[in-house]
Amino acid sequence: MKAVRFTAWKTFPTIEDVPRPTPGPGEVLLKIAGAGACHSDVAVFEQFDETMGEQLAPSYTLGHENSGWIEELGDGVTGLAVGDAFLSYGPIGCGHCPACSRGQDTYCYNAATQPYLATGLGRDGGMAEYMTVPARNLVPLGDADPVVAAPLSDAGLTPYHAIKLALPRLQGGGKSALVIGLGGLGQIAVQILTAITGATVYATDTKPEAMAEAEKAGAKTIEGGEGQADRIREATGGQGVDAVFDFVGITPTITLAQQVVARRGRITVVGVAGGPVEWNFYANPYEAELTNTYWGTIEELYEVVELYRAGRITPQVKTYSMDEALQAYHDLHDGKLSGRAVVTPHA
Ligand code: ZN
Ligand code: ZN
Repeated sequence: MKAVRFTAWKTFPTIEDVPRPTPGPGEVLLKIAGAGACHSDVAVFEQFDETMGEQLAPSYTLGHENSGWIEELGDGVTGLAVGDAFLSYGPIGCGHCPACSRGQDTYCYNAATQPYLATGLGRDGGMAEYMTVPARNLVPLGDADPVVAAPLSDAGLTPYHAIKLALPRLQGGGKSALVIGLGGLGQIAVQILTAITGATVYATDTKPEAMAEAEKAGAKTIEGGEGQADRIREATGGQGVDAVFDFVGITPTITLAQQVVARRGRITVVGVAGGPVEWNFYANPYEAELTNTYWGTIEELYEVVELYRAGRITPQVKTYSMDEALQAYHDLHDGKLSGRAVVTPHA
């Protein structure tokens, strides 16, 4: 079968012919419906090197946000039917520590001794015709379209987790949220905030077409440039924003978040750019929290799927055939995408 392979550090992936995998005990073989291309993949093959450690070391098949139909059941797997559609939760921890027990494999206590981080991140992922995955990681899609659903397992789950943890700041009337960065995750964040909170949702990005997309989803957009922080504060009646979500994570975006957050508000940095900022007693309004989140839990992925099946959130996707899969990464890298690039090996 064909697969998009990450073969060496700082090397663009290639499409290779590899054997179709066999599901191990407790696993299933998934016939891939959709595999989303994520900016983290670009970081993996473009920026990372040996210092990242063995868990992410090449070679393996990329793709950590995947959906598909069960093709084959491994030993010991019961209660699942061949042909049914599922979303795949990407992270794979030890499965039995306190974090994994609550479905949060991202924070596995034994992560340091695991052989990989996730499907598509150290273990063969979904940019292929087939992928194996532990049955525990499957979230049923029912009759919902699995291709459009694929990005939900990262581009949906990651903002959902960040927003859920900020919900105490958004409860009640007159609350506000701000989404900084309207790529794949930021756009779905606007949809989630609109669907599950009553807050006024503000959003900003450097691309006008991304701002237009967010407006369609119910956001009030605020342009960048000089005076942006003042304009955001003004929009909130001078009080500031109750919950800020930064999907970029560079110094200017985190600084903007610090300038506009309300007293007792919360800034969640989700973007992994790693920009440093200053913090001291006077840097942020009183009791404003500055924190980060990473991906989400299996239980939350069930909740994301419920929102999707109810029509409350819908990822914007652009599909690519298996032969066009490398083009998806080129387009992502060149900033040519407004929606999520999804590779559909069997379309
Ligand atoms: Zn990702
Ligand atoms: Zn664990």
